[in-house]
Amino acid sequence: MGEPKILVVEDNAVNRRLAGYLLRAKGYEVREAETAAAAFEAVRAQRPDLILMDVQLAGMDGLEATRRLKADPATRDIPVVAVTAYAMPGDREKALAAGCAGYITKPLDTATFVEQVAAHLSGGARSED
Ligand code: MN
Repeated sequence: MGEPKILVVEDNAVNRRLAGYLLRAKGYEVREAETAAAAFEAVRAQRPDLILMDVQLAGMDGLEATRRLKADPATRDIPVVAVTAYAMPGDREKALAAGCAGYITKPLDTATFVEQVAAHLSGGARSED
């Protein structure tokens, strides 16, 4: 099987590299995509075990990208975790309604980020307040 594969979809290079760095440091195999289109391509090339999806992407946003992944029988079982700087009431509901398994807020908490990802990877924790 190898290490769990995580696809990090994030258009901000600093955030993308930080997430990639933290996950690789824990042994995960990480691929990165800057856009929804690049994410779809990456998913086709190598199915990830989990997708971290920035909600705010240039072009197609992360929620629409998630809806498309969830509408496709080939990809609907891949858990998608929304990542957003917007911690506004209602954002969690929007993410869950789009099909996300949960929600991580930015700025990433470097002390707990990998644990949050691991919890979603093991299929357990739906982060609910
Ligand atoms: Mn963004």
